[in-house]
Amino acid sequence: MKRVRIIPFVLLLPACIDPTVEPELSDEESWRADPAELELACSVSVIPKQTPDSPSQLRVSVVNLGDSPAQFVARNLPFASPEREYFTVDRGDQPVDFWGLRVKLEAPTEADLVELDAGDALATVYTLSDYYHLDQPGTYDIALLRPSVHVFGAEGIRKVELACNAVELELAKAEPPPEPLIEPDSPGQKSAEGASFKDCDAHQQAEILRAEAVAKWMLPIALGTHTFGRSQVAADSKYYDEWFGAHTTDRAQKVDEKLDKIVEGLDEGIEYKCHSKTERKCEKGTIAWVIPVLSDKVHLCERFFEKDDVGWDTKWGILVHEFSHLFALTHDYEYGRPDSLALADNQPNKAVKNADNYEYFVEDIYLGLAPRHDVDGDGHSDLVTTAWGSGFVYPGKSTSTFGSYVASFAGTMNTALFDGAGHWLLDVVDMNLDGHDDLVTIGSDGVMYVYFGTASGTVYTGVVEAGLDGGDNLDLVFDDGVGYEPIGVADTNGNLAPDLVTIRDDGAVCWFGGLNGGLSGSKVCTAGLIDSAFMDGVGEHVIDLADVNGDRRADLIAAADDGTVYVYTGTAGGSFGAGVGSFAGTYNLALYDGFGHEPIGVADVTGDGRADLVTHHHVSNNTYVYPGQANATFGSGVPSFAGTMNSSLFDQTGHELIGVFDVDGNGLADLVTHAGGNAFVYRGTQNGQFTSGGVSFSGTLNSSRFDGDGHEFITERRQHRRRGCTPTGCL
Ligand SMILES: [Zn+2]
Repeated sequence: MKRVRIIPFVLLLPACIDPTVEPELSDEESWRADPAELELACSVSVIPKQTPDSPSQLRVSVVNLGDSPAQFVARNLPFASPEREYFTVDRGDQPVDFWGLRVKLEAPTEADLVELDAGDALATVYTLSDYYHLDQPGTYDIALLRPSVHVFGAEGIRKVELACNAVELELAKAEPPPEPLIEPDSPGQKSAEGASFKDCDAHQQAEILRAEAVAKWMLPIALGTHTFGRSQVAADSKYYDEWFGAHTTDRAQKVDEKLDKIVEGLDEGIEYKCHSKTERKCEKGTIAWVIPVLSDKVHLCERFFEKDDVGWDTKWGILVHEFSHLFALTHDYEYGRPDSLALADNQPNKAVKNADNYEYFVEDIYLGLAPRHDVDGDGHSDLVTTAWGSGFVYPGKSTSTFGSYVASFAGTMNTALFDGAGHWLLDVVDMNLDGHDDLVTIGSDGVMYVYFGTASGTVYTGVVEAGLDGGDNLDLVFDDGVGYEPIGVADTNGNLAPDLVTIRDDGAVCWFGGLNGGLSGSKVCTAGLIDSAFMDGVGEHVIDLADVNGDRRADLIAAADDGTVYVYTGTAGGSFGAGVGSFAGTYNLALYDGFGHEPIGVADVTGDGRADLVTHHHVSNNTYVYPGQANATFGSGVPSFAGTMNSSLFDQTGHELIGVFDVDGNGLADLVTHAGGNAFVYRGTQNGQFTSGGVSFSGTLNSSRFDGDGHEFITERRQHRRRGCTPTGCL
């Protein structure tokens, strides 16, 4: 048997544990040694007490039994930062109060690696009552919370489980409570929103309030106490299975209880304390922490403020993580998406108690609500078309390309675009909030049809809405200019369910509230708002329904013949606000005469949570992204393509500009075009510029745009913004 040599930085004497001592870093050459060869033995033991009054102590060690040095990240084990939670400690079936820190950490990096020579050991002595309240005599069951290390290999970072033993501790008498880690603090500065701040500057306070508002908005949605039933969003959805494992009543109840406690806890104003980079507790990838039980304060390191607003490990998502510790006493069994996903698969009973699982569950629901024409629900926008009576879904991919199609309708879907009879293809949105976007059409008979999307990319008839107009079907303007012009389907009142928005021939914008996959029967008309240019070319050209000001209600965006683009803001009651104008008469719309701007869509290219106006300019041959702003106006345009993008709208050569949606699934909308039988995806970036992306279909995808033969791209809203007119007529 190998002799175990204790290497120098290992600390054995409880009296001199110094958590600031760091293990040595490995050298560059050796760390990619195949981590599969890792042979680590792990042991936990109770150190016998020297006197009845000495504190209970554990010895934890990891020994390299292999023949070569081992490199791994050991931060799941209590060798440094002892104030963090490393153990589960139960007396009977009751968890013991932990008075230390629960932290949110960045993913480990190579800088966190330690190296252990063959035969060497890492070991430490851990004083249990420094952080756990052993307040009664009895038997305590103790096990490591995360008996694992991380290794880096050719495929990146990977977790390796260790076979660490559990121990029993027999206490003849209670031990004194831990020294509280709470630093005495004067009360923080209270904000109007009820939050209070300590050592946070004005910018940090604003960022925290923004993040807190999103968390407060999303948590009731995840819980299902929002307007929508839980069954619509959580329990029956793919999000639930993904983060909390196969659905059981018992686990679903636990998740409900925890979400409920968090939502309740948020009613009390939260106190936030900001910490500088140099503080020791902010070292080594620490983003935030809380001290549950003893304190309701959320501690934030500077690293927190570098996080995004949209995506995963967002500012607001990190707050959800911390709130789950504070109010629902969750643990950190695992960190990061891969390990938390695996926890839901393998140990779902732990997943329902793991903070990151709550964070990612709620963040995924949020991402799923973003409009993205994602029928199969994989987080990538799909190219959705109809042709020859069938519906086609070409699944979007991370590579900014589209995969092989999945077909629906088998020749029975008759588009109204060319002869006015059949279906007007309105939108691809998630009507029933199951994470799969649905196809919404309105028949020339004035009936609305919702075809629910599925994971495979097919759609099936879900809801049929007849009699929307006081018992009659909607009279559509398409045949005679009288009645309703359907614009699209989007959540304009902020209750999550997409609503049908129309413009009536008298200039009223009429809204039909959405509910449970269809419509609710409520209708609100805002009189005298828009003179639509749809039938006569005079007035306003509708561009899109999208959330420009970031209040999570879609707005109606239209360009007027006076050179102004108006944003009519959605409101909670279903009416629309008066138009907020941008460009002050300088937005020259090309749809009248072939010169100026051709609107492509309104979608969030920059990833700031506000939709941006995307147009093509027919003189400069650039596209422009005008960023949406909180006051519902558009900011200065960011050009792309340096004069090389040729639109086919007027001369039938160049690119057909299909729309703006997030194909690669990174949260930023991409520009999708069609030319020469190919689909082009130009990836959106945070500065508003489009960069190169992918090309699909190798010249085989026909567009029906000019000859009626081939694919109609549904998200193009061709009937509205793609009717190009020149002095000699309209195409
Ligand atoms: Zn945590």
